[in-house]
Formats: sequence, C-alpha cells, structure tokens
Amino acid sequence: MKDADIKRFRSLYPRLWRHELSKMPDGWVKITEELMEALNEIQPPIPGEYGSPLFLMIQFGSGFAIALVSPNPDLGTWNQEKALDVIQAVCRFNWQVCETCEVCAGPSHIIVKEPNGLHQQRLCEHCAEERLAKFEGRSVQ
Ligand SMILES: [Zn+2]
Repeated sequence: MKDADIKRFRSLYPRLWRHELSKMPDGWVKITEELMEALNEIQPPIPGEYGSPLFLMIQFGSGFAIALVSPNPDLGTWNQEKALDVIQAVCRFNWQVCETCEVCAGPSHIIVKEPNGLHQQRLCEHCAEERLAKFEGRSVQ
C-alpha cells in the first residue's frame, strides 16, 4: 500500500485501521476501502469513544485475503438489519478479492505461482505475463 493510501485510511477509518494493512497489495486497496466505507456507514464510529463498534481483521498473503468482522454490541445501536448488512459487506469483499488482481486491480481468475514455488499471487493475465517475463529474465543470468 502506498504512503498516501495509508494516510487516507488512518484519517478516514482510524477505528478500523490496523498497521498490518500497510502491507496490503496495491490492487486490493480499493476493495479494502469500499469495505471500510460500508462498515462505517452501517455503524459509524461514536464521537469521543475510543473503542470501535466493529472489529475488523483482514488476513492476506499468497494470493488470498479474507476479512473477518465482529460487531461490538456494547457500542452503537445494533439490530438484525445492520448485522445482515455487515455480513453482506464482508462477503462482497471476500468475493471481490477472488476476482481482482492484487497488483493492478484488473480482473483476475488465476493464482500465479513462481516456478521456484516460493511466491504466489492473484494476478490478471497482463500482470501474470509480466511476472513470468521478469522471472525468466532473472533465471537466465
Ligand atoms: Zn494486474
């Protein structure tokens, strides 16, 4: 994630932001922001309250990411409709991740594994070709 993105996330979503997210691949920044925006809309942070009405954790790596959200029933007002909206926002993120290139945010249907087996990424066709060309260039040296 770029420094400008980190600054924006920290100022717009201070209760949902976690430092680990600064390593989120650039291609997934937009869908991460859409998730936080949706969560903030469903249950906005409470002014003057340090805690968050929602706990958000996103685990990511090796071409995969999954968001986990837990509502804090002690903060904010909760009802069944809001609970369902939270589930839908999380599902949307988890599906979008599976269809989005983690480098350029283009459409992706593949996980690309480098021939050495050490790294894998979710990439679009274009980024996959570039990655492969780079790898071949390196291994020819
Ligand atoms: Zn791409």
